[in-house]
Amino acid sequence: MVIKQLNSSKLGRRGACPSGFFKPTQKEEPCLQCPINSRTTSEGAMNCVCRNGYYRTDSDPLQMPCTTVPSAPQTVISSVNETSVMLEWMPPRDSGGREDVVFNIICKSCGGGRGGCTRCGDNVQFQPRQLGLTEPRVYISELLAHTQYTFEVQAVNGVSDQSLYSPQYASVNITTNQAAPSTVSIMHQVSRTVDSITLSWSQPDQPNGVILDYELQYYEKDQSEVNATAIRSQTNTVVIRGLKPGSIYVFMVRARTVAGFGRYSGKLYFQTMTEGEYNISIKEKLPLIIGSAAAGLVFLIAVVVIIIVCNRRRGFERGDSEYTDKLQHYTSGHMTPGMKIYIDPFTYEDPNEAVREFAKEIDISCVKIEQVIGAGEFGEVCSGNLKLPGKREMFVAIKTLKTGYTEKQRRDFLSEASIMGQFDHPNVIHLEGVVTKSSPVMIITEFMENGSLDSFLRQNDGQFTVIQLVGMLRGIASGMKYLADMNYVHRDLAARNILVNSNLVCKVSDFGLSRFLEDDNSDPTYTSALGGKIPIRWTAPEAIQYRKFTNASDVWSYGIVMWEVMSYGERPYWDMTNQDVINAIEQDYRLPPPMDCPSALHQLMLDCWQKDRNNRPKFSQIVNNLDKMIRNPNTLKAMTPLSSGVHLPLLDRSIPDFSSFSTVDEWLDAIKMGQYKDNFAGADFSTFDVVSSMTMDDILRVGVTLAGHQKKILNSVQMMRAQMNQIQSVEV
Ligand code: AMP
Repeated sequence: MVIKQLNSSKLGRRGACPSGFFKPTQKEEPCLQCPINSRTTSEGAMNCVCRNGYYRTDSDPLQMPCTTVPSAPQTVISSVNETSVMLEWMPPRDSGGREDVVFNIICKSCGGGRGGCTRCGDNVQFQPRQLGLTEPRVYISELLAHTQYTFEVQAVNGVSDQSLYSPQYASVNITTNQAAPSTVSIMHQVSRTVDSITLSWSQPDQPNGVILDYELQYYEKDQSEVNATAIRSQTNTVVIRGLKPGSIYVFMVRARTVAGFGRYSGKLYFQTMTEGEYNISIKEKLPLIIGSAAAGLVFLIAVVVIIIVCNRRRGFERGDSEYTDKLQHYTSGHMTPGMKIYIDPFTYEDPNEAVREFAKEIDISCVKIEQVIGAGEFGEVCSGNLKLPGKREMFVAIKTLKTGYTEKQRRDFLSEASIMGQFDHPNVIHLEGVVTKSSPVMIITEFMENGSLDSFLRQNDGQFTVIQLVGMLRGIASGMKYLADMNYVHRDLAARNILVNSNLVCKVSDFGLSRFLEDDNSDPTYTSALGGKIPIRWTAPEAIQYRKFTNASDVWSYGIVMWEVMSYGERPYWDMTNQDVINAIEQDYRLPPPMDCPSALHQLMLDCWQKDRNNRPKFSQIVNNLDKMIRNPNTLKAMTPLSSGVHLPLLDRSIPDFSSFSTVDEWLDAIKMGQYKDNFAGADFSTFDVVSSMTMDDILRVGVTLAGHQKKILNSVQMMRAQMNQIQSVEV
């Protein structure tokens, strides 16, 4: 930089410099002109101060021009590979006059939780680092699968921290793809004999999808790994037979999802029993075996007697009631061997006894309530912590029974716990226990971070891939299959809450109020001829008409839940009244495919809504069907063409007819994109003529950044164009 010196004639009196010039020392030296972007405030200055918006660092020489913050980096390019991404960008156009520009990365994940974006967690990895990057590129890994992220690349230099404003940045939105599951971290031996070992392991921390099965590899420790045997298992427990006595074996396990196999776990060593150990263990166990056999026999006789007595009593009391199906199952002998059967807590004379039998009593000192998260039928639902002695503290949901309850309310409230306590399945909410010995009475269950499914979907409209949605549906079907296998038929899914955890796993919960409340809001609750409220739009016609609640009526309700999921929480049959819904169903009308719903899924819904309940699929068939779709995503590519409603008796209201709206704002509201009204108006997209010719670029330009919303608007625009063409051709 050229620093002009002032010639001696321009020296001020007594050597003081005039305005615009400075002299850093008192010595007899020529004055220097203020460097660029600086000025003096008075004559005789020893330095020049920076203009507004320009700065100097402590180490910048006074002769150096003042500098400013850099402009934003340019053209950020992203390349996504499964759950990692490479970002590259061009340096800022204006470095602020400095050569010490570096880059920081801000990572935000969007759409994973209850809407909005949040800062990424600590587990995300940045190579070479997240802050102070000197090169214009970074490699980011360990992101979550199928998640939207926004990365902001900030440009900063030596004076950025003096500016009042945040650094300028360029941002890029990406969506990660599927990823193989993470490794199984814990495996333990359940039991062993001379020729077998039973092993069990935990699910990977990040399954990144629905686990299809596990592969277990094992070989004798003294043999080479190339001779290893591999076996597949659909559960996380396996018995390995045909092993040599007293030999050490090496085991490794890996999980498989549609994305392929995850990495193998570390090697673990387990040894079969020697003949000697086996003989000793038999001797030790002999008294126990005889005792157990005797106790088992007594128990069996008691169960048979109870079943006979109960059957007789129920036959007298209820006649041909809703329980007929259940009793048929009890006695038909079609149960899977070893499968537990659900026991109705109301068959106990003292319901408290059922609670004692099926739910663990928890001491109130182990429970810490944190905040209220919802309203249940009997009182508040809270989140909090549970710390049981010798166990790790865990996050739990706590349902409380409000004070002033009647004995019947207490019994009904706790019956939920006696029901839930009998279930043990990854897609059924797990009961931790109950607090009945202090007030308030509480039911404590596992915590589901994303709350109830319908509101979760509404908050994340359009944000999931079809495979993710099918994964959620598979979870619900699997939970329902388990309940059906347990012979638990009690007006279930129609009235059931479905909750979602942070891994997008759906679990069926106990009776939820929400469906009844929704029905109550719209029109008077439909009360069946035999009394009792029924959530009409989820319930099979035979269950509404003559209370025939069966597994098949649950399958009907499941079809409605499928429709809700695929339409991101749309209300089934929209604003139709309950009576209109009943009439429409009677006349064989069925819900049309939601927007972007693969035909295979809509076909499955229609199967669930077969009038004859014997023609509806079983939950096991639904699970298999969904598994096939997940394994072969090509089957999900075919969509029902928008015009094919012709031969289906459908209420085709999936995409509203634009001609029923008078303004673009009304149309945006109808497609649930009302939040973009200002964006559309601001960019002059305010008539149907201009909106109907919008392209993806236009949608981006008006500021719709979420991929799901872009897709939804583009689809509706295309539909609008198609409808306009139809109108024009009719007019011609
Ligand atoms: P319910 O009485 O089951 O309808 O629960 C009322 C509300 O509380 C639900 O809609 C959820 O928002 C919330 N909730 C219930 N159980 C849980 C849970 N286990 N984890 C998280 N939220 C829950």
